[in-house]
Amino acid sequence: MAVAKMHLAVRGAGVVGLWQALTLARAGHRVTLYERSATPFADACSPFAGAMLAPRCEEESAEPVIRALGERSIALWLKTYPGTVANGTLIVAPSRDRVLIDRFARMTEGGDRLDRTGLAQLEPDLAKRFAGALYYAGEAHLAPDQALAFLLDAAQAAGTRVKLGEVGMPQDADLVIDCRGLAAKNDLPTLRGVRGERIVVRSREVHLAHPVRFLHPRFPLYIVPWGDGLYMIGATVIESEETGPVSVRSALDLLSAAYALDPAFAEAEIVRQGASARPAFPDNRPRIIAAKGYIYVNGLYRHGFLLAPALAELVATFVETGARHEEVFVADPA
Ligand SMILES: Cc1cc2nc3c(=O)[nH]c(=O)nc-3n(C[C@H](O)[C@H](O)[C@H](O)COP(=O)(O)OP(=O)(O)OC[C@H]3O[C@@H](n4cnc5c(N)ncnc54)[C@H](O)[C@@H]3O)c2cc1C
Repeated sequence: MAVAKMHLAVRGAGVVGLWQALTLARAGHRVTLYERSATPFADACSPFAGAMLAPRCEEESAEPVIRALGERSIALWLKTYPGTVANGTLIVAPSRDRVLIDRFARMTEGGDRLDRTGLAQLEPDLAKRFAGALYYAGEAHLAPDQALAFLLDAAQAAGTRVKLGEVGMPQDADLVIDCRGLAAKNDLPTLRGVRGERIVVRSREVHLAHPVRFLHPRFPLYIVPWGDGLYMIGATVIESEETGPVSVRSALDLLSAAYALDPAFAEAEIVRQGASARPAFPDNRPRIIAAKGYIYVNGLYRHGFLLAPALAELVATFVETGARHEEVFVADPA
């Protein structure tokens, strides 16, 4: 039996709202996307992301559901966005802290141990300083600015009407899907922001092709190669909703660790710095909160890019069949 198509309003054009609009428009629904800012992504957390798609590595500190949904999301990114790079993630640690690698391997699944020769095949410069690494094949990453612009275009090409500079409640939709991130806090009292600072540099002397996590005991960090000589160095995780510039202390930590990873970062140019607040519930798990005529998709924390496609698919299935993924759908956000 054919499913009746609906008029759906999506509030918020961050990575979550864009994937909702695209998925639902491609499923044949009439979609209108409302975004508060007049310029796309100007007020969003999403452009601050790495944007690593690392479901196995995240298992070190996240629940198994994140891995399962993340792996599904990578498949959807690869099918949808040609800029998705799926060449895996490397984990390294200073030689005196090899125990950190062992711990990371114990907390996660699917990491292959590389010796120096194996590491040299993937990242020759790192093999000069590190005797080995853990390697998670199949993980992916992308450059967020290009990916967000692509999703906006693709959603429009699929028939989504985009209304910029709109803050009000959509009146004429059959169903509203609220993807306002931290701006939904008044409705969702347990939602909080978790500050993340990052620095973007440009270098012609650094030659990293894979996202690298550096298990430094004091300043753990990751570096994501965005292409064209750009590297994102991130990210702090601070219980604060303050956005704005990176603090001197965080800049020292991030840049010192990057320099320890690869001294070629010393000559890099800082091209961007700043912080945003990741929307998160107390257990740092995402929620789809479905009430009559209104659905919130929120709390994606460190995993907005990692989870947005899979959550959009779950909402589309719910809209068409009423089926709810029991670990993600909740009646009460608390
Ligand atoms: C430093 C840092 C690094 C990160 N790295 C990664 C990573 O490597 N991988 C990963 O998966 N995730 C990462 N994240 C997390 C990711 O960025 C977030 O989970 C994600 O951006 C949340 O997306 P969102 O769409 O929910 O919110 P947002 O991107 O904030 O989008 C919400 C949108 O709603 C709009 N809005 C607000 N009010 C209204 C209204 N009334 N009407 C209409 N629109 C409204 C806002 O303007 C905004 O555009 C990182 C985050 C940070 C800060």
